[in-house]
Amino acid sequence: MRIAAVLIALIMAAAPAAAQPAPARPIDWDALRDEAVQILSEYIRINTTNAPGNEKAGAEYLARILEREGIEAQILDEEVLGAGRANLYARLRGDGSKRAIALVHHIDVVPASPQHWTVDPFAGLVRDGYVWGRGAIDMKGDGVAHLMAMLALKRSGVPLTRDIVYIANADEELGSTGAVAFVDRHPELLRDVEYLITEGGDIALENGRLQFYGVGVAEKRTFWQRLRVAGTPSHGSRPTRENPVPRLVTALARIAAYETPLEVTAGVDKYFRDISRNYPEPRRGWLADVGAALAEPEAREWILSDVYWNAILRNTISLTVVTGSSKTNVIPAEAVAELDIRLLPTADPDSVLATLKALAADTAITWTTIMAPKTPLENPVDTELFRAIERAARERDPGALVTTPMFTAASDRPTYRKLGIITYGIDPFRVESGEHQKMMHGNDERISIENLGWGTRFIFDILRYAQ
Ligand SMILES: [Zn+2]
Repeated sequence: MRIAAVLIALIMAAAPAAAQPAPARPIDWDALRDEAVQILSEYIRINTTNAPGNEKAGAEYLARILEREGIEAQILDEEVLGAGRANLYARLRGDGSKRAIALVHHIDVVPASPQHWTVDPFAGLVRDGYVWGRGAIDMKGDGVAHLMAMLALKRSGVPLTRDIVYIANADEELGSTGAVAFVDRHPELLRDVEYLITEGGDIALENGRLQFYGVGVAEKRTFWQRLRVAGTPSHGSRPTRENPVPRLVTALARIAAYETPLEVTAGVDKYFRDISRNYPEPRRGWLADVGAALAEPEAREWILSDVYWNAILRNTISLTVVTGSSKTNVIPAEAVAELDIRLLPTADPDSVLATLKALAADTAITWTTIMAPKTPLENPVDTELFRAIERAARERDPGALVTTPMFTAASDRPTYRKLGIITYGIDPFRVESGEHQKMMHGNDERISIENLGWGTRFIFDILRYAQ
């Protein structure tokens, strides 16, 4: 996300004097980083563009690395995911005195258009200090940082009280069928898992300056609707009342003009309070009590002018698809529109839909849910894992802000959260916010070699401090 003109106040926070399970054998971090580069490059070369996914080849690649290290891995769910698709599961054993932590990433990537890239998106090129390719940040890079952190724990002999579970899922980018199949078919593999780390939290830099460490604890819920009006096709030269286009457009205009109510959920309230200290007055005061500020016109205007802040304070509705006739002189048989609705975790989908239908005020419209919302995702922050993240962050950046921005897109986290697992979004890389936005599903996706090493060590420390 992008927060304009934020200055980090350097408030020194003393690291808590927690236990620190130490490696029995030294770790050569430079060698580990180079190994990570090699693995990520090879992983990118396995083209897992979804559709069709082809995730089984990626899962097998990771399984070979794990098994070489003496960590047993299983390829699962091929029979339900379809040809060439699979999930991967592996577990590094601790002494079992505390519950496990799972590291989860998705193997699939979104399509790439090579003509818009300066390199081949599936060559796994290592050049100019970067590993280039589709999936470098979303999210094969995370998967490799998870893997290397786990291997470092094992190789160096850090005493573990918690098992470390490693999961790679198929199909996050399209249907989430990978995570859904895994959770539905293997709850016994997750029964002792207390915490889960996956994508959905940025370490935000702006012009090289750290803004905050974001830990994703909540996300919006995707709720897509299709609206259809049937009509009678005829020639455009003789207007009729049975033209479905004006009927649909009239309803859409009412929906487009509708301002959804504002609501400050608990995690979002904390996020604004946390970042408020980076702003001068009066903005500091506004953000420290965003609920009250939204009642003041000047504060409200400023807060809602940030598209990210606006999206975490309300249900949003984007009118995205509208189709009528394909010919100027033909009145079509139907007119169709699609709405990209994103709900706050607290929203009730039925009542939101009822409100929209009342606004549209036309019974000729057929409404179809084309994407139903997942389980609402909200997580506690007063946990051992959250404190481990804060500690690892502040060792790197003394006084760093560790906060809980809401994720406005969708991830596989609700699928795991359903089991009661505390799921945090952490993308362990320091990337310029603007650059991150551009590369995510965009062109010339890449991760710096330095970042890959940094992220591996960050995850390693989080896992170590959470023991
Ligand atoms: Zn992703």
